Amino acid sequence: MSAAPASMKSAETGANAARGHAGGQGEAAAVEEIMRVLAGVPDPEIPAVSVIDLGIVRDANATRVLITPTYTGCPATLAIEQAIRAALDANGFSAVAIETALSPPWSSDWISDEGREKLRAYGIAPPPKGAGAASLKNAQAAECPRCGSGNTEEISRFGSTPCKALWRCKACAEPFDRFKCH
Ligand SMILES: [Zn+2]
Repeated sequence: MSAAPASMKSAETGANAARGHAGGQGEAAAVEEIMRVLAGVPDPEIPAVSVIDLGIVRDANATRVLITPTYTGCPATLAIEQAIRAALDANGFSAVAIETALSPPWSSDWISDEGREKLRAYGIAPPPKGAGAASLKNAQAAECPRCGSGNTEEISRFGSTPCKALWRCKACAEPFDRFKCH
């Protein structure tokens, strides 16, 4: 067993090593574990998708998780933070802080492809990609999550929760929730 020659280490690496195994590989493993825990935290309103799927988690390191709530003033905002806190605590990450960043505001463009598929399978029309930037009015017709038809109409601005709108498919006549575009 031979240690790497001291001369090979930069000043920064040396400082990291001096702090012990918290840095470098240890931290990478911790972040990986934290992300695994977060991937298991469902959205309080739509349990089919996780806070990772929705793009709520912006960044994570070994000491803090940065989140951006989906909608300011959405009743689920506090529930999301509490759910993340509970999951971190339950997995031995009580020391990891949760920070909230409101800028830039969350955009439905941050929902991952996997998240979009999960929403569709759950019966909720995911917002079209680019909708967040392109339109604040949900002008584009939603795609029916059941039959895929674009022949749909908005029935109500508010679906089962304030974060969703109620739509109806004219092709199969089924009503469905649509994730609002922001
Ligand atoms: Zn349909």
